[in-house]
Amino acid sequence: MTSVTFMPLSLVGQGAPSDQRLASAGAPIIFGREAVFMDAPRAGLHAAARLPQQERTLAPDHVLAAVVQKGRLFERAYPEVTVLRNRGRYLLVELSPNHPALVERHAEPCYAAFPVEPGTEVFRDLGRIARPAQRSPAVASVLERLSVVAFRATLEELVAQRTRFSTSEAYRQAAELSRRRLEDLGYQVALQEFAMAGGRSCNVLATPKEAPFPAVIIMGHLDSINHAEGPEAAAPGADDNGSGAAGVIAMADALAPIGDRLSVGFALFGGEEQGLFGSRHMLSALPAEAVSAVRAMINMDMIGTLNPGPDGTTVAPAVLLEGADVSRHVIEGLAAQAAAWTDLTVQTSFKPYASDHVPFIEAGMPAVLTIEGADQTNDSIHGPGDTIDRIDDGLAYQILRMNTAYVASLADT
Ligand SMILES: [Zn+2]
Repeated sequence: MTSVTFMPLSLVGQGAPSDQRLASAGAPIIFGREAVFMDAPRAGLHAAARLPQQERTLAPDHVLAAVVQKGRLFERAYPEVTVLRNRGRYLLVELSPNHPALVERHAEPCYAAFPVEPGTEVFRDLGRIARPAQRSPAVASVLERLSVVAFRATLEELVAQRTRFSTSEAYRQAAELSRRRLEDLGYQVALQEFAMAGGRSCNVLATPKEAPFPAVIIMGHLDSINHAEGPEAAAPGADDNGSGAAGVIAMADALAPIGDRLSVGFALFGGEEQGLFGSRHMLSALPAEAVSAVRAMINMDMIGTLNPGPDGTTVAPAVLLEGADVSRHVIEGLAAQAAAWTDLTVQTSFKPYASDHVPFIEAGMPAVLTIEGADQTNDSIHGPGDTIDRIDDGLAYQILRMNTAYVASLADT
């Protein structure tokens, strides 16, 4: 039987007396703020230090697995599974090796489960990072242009429609609305048509006029979906992803004046909910020079949910930065700007999952998803309950400040 030992990550690898004993248990699994050891030498651990550690023994023939889920969809699908740690988007669970979640591939992924072994980093919770002593005045002046009022106004217009189902007439209207907004801000805007399951949809692509290929691309999906009730049903998609789409337009507004120093492009995608059709199409249409010009891509997909804690307590606003090795520099840059300009708790993951950053990462491009913190996983997405009254403007504003400051800092160097 496998035993699993949890310790605070802050106590591991700091030359603590327990480190040598732990070495024989292999590298820890990183899960949030905890280090997880498999089959650690029990006596050694206890003798090493009086540390706040916890042990669990897995059921016979079970393996330790991590889950990434949208909403609470894994927990709903498998309520009988034993959850060892629950951090919303991420779970540590024990599963039989032939559990369907481990062996079946889902065409429409709402969760993914994978066995973990020593050294696996599921996600890392960095907490609040100390604010630097110096901050750039040039970045500050760009941030002054970022308007949470304008963000809210765009979001209200987007959710006023019953749905933004990708192949619907209502989606077209949302795309036209976005096109007008971006044109009014002075950008050159194109609707990029593509075929997808069930019909046709389009992306909205904006670049500064007469600019070279964008060095930075800010993106988010414009479509929404009601999984249970179908294309005609109400799908306000306020968090998923009215918040990210309105965020793209708010950033386009704030960043317009730096267009002569740094070419920043903006993309709103259709077909995300049916399988990343819009972002895959944009990628397939990018010429090689455009791909190599890109220094950073920021995807926003759900930036507005701040769930109350247990018993209605308020929780610290948090952001999850999800990318891969190819986008490590973007994650580090975003984390630094979060420290400089926001109160956000920062979490990082190098397991890109199920949104529009994934195709670009697969193509070797430096894309990062910025999303409400892991614990804030939104249980009302993909249905009529994803409404604007549940959007926390303050959280969205802080994530937009981080993203805008990062782009402004690139223009400043
Ligand atoms: Zn989404």
